[in-house]
Amino acid sequence: MTTIFSKIVKGEIPSHKIAEDEDYLAFLDINPLARGHTLVIPKKEVDYIFDMDDNLLAGMQVFSKRVAKAIERVIPCKRIGIAVLGLEVPHAHIHLIPINRLEDINFGRPKLRLGEDELAEIAANIRQVMEQ
Ligand code: AMP
Repeated sequence: MTTIFSKIVKGEIPSHKIAEDEDYLAFLDINPLARGHTLVIPKKEVDYIFDMDDNLLAGMQVFSKRVAKAIERVIPCKRIGIAVLGLEVPHAHIHLIPINRLEDINFGRPKLRLGEDELAEIAANIRQVMEQ
C-alpha cells in the first residue's frame, strides 16, 4: 500500500533525513515525543512489520542500531527506546526515541512542537555523527 512514507522515500514530500541505504531510510518524526525521535522504515512497501521478509526485518534492526548510536551521541539520554505501533501509517516502521524515564515513551502524551529549523538542525547534527 502506498502511504506518505513511500512519498518520502521517493522524495515527493520533504523529510528530515538521518540516514539511507538501498533498503532503509531513517528520518525525524514530524510530531516527536522527544528531540531526536526518529523513524526507520524499509523502502519496500510493507504494512505490518511482522509480515516483512526475515532478512529485511533483521537488516532493519541492524540499520536502526547504527542510527540509535548516532542519536544518543547528539541527544543526551539514558537510552534510545524503540517502539512499533503502525496505527497511523500502514508502512512498517520502528520509532527510535531518546528516553530518560518511562513517561518519555508514552504515546498518549502531547507531542513536542518543534519548528522546521530545529528539526533541520537536529537532523544535521545526527547526520554528521553518522558520517564519522
Ligand atoms: P504510528 O503509525 O502509530 O506508528 O505513527 C506514525 C508516526 O509517523 C507518528 O509518530 C507521526 O508523527 C509520524 N509521521 C506521520 N507523517 C509523517 C511525516 N510526513 N514525516 C515524519 N513523520 C510522520
